[in-house]
Amino acid sequence: MTASVTKIPVGISSCLLGERVRYDGGHRYDPFINQRLADYFEFRPFCPEVAIGLGIPRAPIQLVKTASGLRVKGADNPELDVTERLADYGQQVAQNMDDICGYIFKARSPSCGTQRVKTWRKDGAPDEPDGIGVYAQAIMHALPDLPVEEEGRLDDPALCEHFIERVFAFHRSLHR
Ligand code: SF4
Repeated sequence: MTASVTKIPVGISSCLLGERVRYDGGHRYDPFINQRLADYFEFRPFCPEVAIGLGIPRAPIQLVKTASGLRVKGADNPELDVTERLADYGQQVAQNMDDICGYIFKARSPSCGTQRVKTWRKDGAPDEPDGIGVYAQAIMHALPDLPVEEEGRLDDPALCEHFIERVFAFHRSLHR
């Protein structure tokens, strides 16, 4: 008889699984995540930009620094502002994450990036790359203990091992 392995549910940015959900209709399939981490994790994909109805393909969005804080606006259309829609969707997902024990986010995205996302000034000039994706921020704010990581950082063996350990520890804490 073959021993069954229980995989741990982990949220993930859909494009990292190869789903064609990016603004240009492409994906960001990550071989390491799909071929190695899939041995441990059962991935639950989310694409917040598609979920709030922006469509595929869609006009790109970006983080803009304004007097009222960081906003997610259309790169070519400043009238488009999806900040609240992305934040509300993040809160909604977080409230329904009963069994998810970690989350792997796509880096550098104005929706999914967890750190060092490019920002822009209102006049269109680039500013410091110190933004956080609005959807990711909503998830991290609602679930501060949830282990999260970005795909590029998982190429570092030490960071990857640390993330896996944190996910397993979180899973144990849910099933005590
Ligand atoms: S980075 Fe996030 S919002 Fe952008 S395509 Fe991937 S899952 Fe969708």
